[in-house]
Amino acid sequence: MKIVILLGAPGSGKGTVAARLVAADATLKHVSSGDLLRDAVKRQTPAGVEAEGFMKRGELVPDTIIAQMIGDLMKGIQGECTLLLDGFPRTVVQAEILDKTIAGCGAELSCAVLLDVADEVLVERIAGRRGCPKCGAGYHIKNLPPKVEGICDVCGAELITRKDDNPETVKNRLAVYKSQTMPLIDFYKGRGQLREVAGVGAIDEIVTRVKQALA
Ligand code: AMP
Repeated sequence: MKIVILLGAPGSGKGTVAARLVAADATLKHVSSGDLLRDAVKRQTPAGVEAEGFMKRGELVPDTIIAQMIGDLMKGIQGECTLLLDGFPRTVVQAEILDKTIAGCGAELSCAVLLDVADEVLVERIAGRRGCPKCGAGYHIKNLPPKVEGICDVCGAELITRKDDNPETVKNRLAVYKSQTMPLIDFYKGRGQLREVAGVGAIDEIVTRVKQALA
């Protein structure tokens, strides 16, 4: 199993890029730590109950909770594939735990791809972000609108705005990214494993750049 880490601020397009890459290559698997946590909250598992308050405030959930979830998932994967880790690791402690998990299951870290996006673009993207609560498809009211306003193209469900996409929580999430996740840029750069990609422009262009970075 190979691991590719998608690094970038909230709204940098990690999920959108991962969905595009996975749609074009059956050997890729998209693992979003945010989706795993939202699902745990929805099912009110013990981890979900503990994570809920942190997520509402736009804070990171404790490293051990999410590291355990990702570790369990990685251990359960059989056969050859490449995991696109979206949103994990988010702290240096998580990166160190990931190193151990990778070693423990005989996997290999290919690289960390950083999607570079200016703050003002991030805020605009998050404000317009909509998602399907049923099938998980993602939209943006301007950049990627559904065919019928407010309705999912894929399954017809009514689109929603994520609870933590409100302006106050977004401000906090961006601050948390800067203080706790940005140190990972130097962490992976120092090991020669960082690939920086401009995360602006048309989605197709961004996806092409990421593919080139992974080649
Ligand atoms: P995301 O969907 O990646 O924007 O994540 C949504 C929220 O889930 C974050 O604001 C955090 O509260 C939590 N979260 C997701 N991934 C992690 C992680 N690796 N470590 C800690 N908290 C996380």
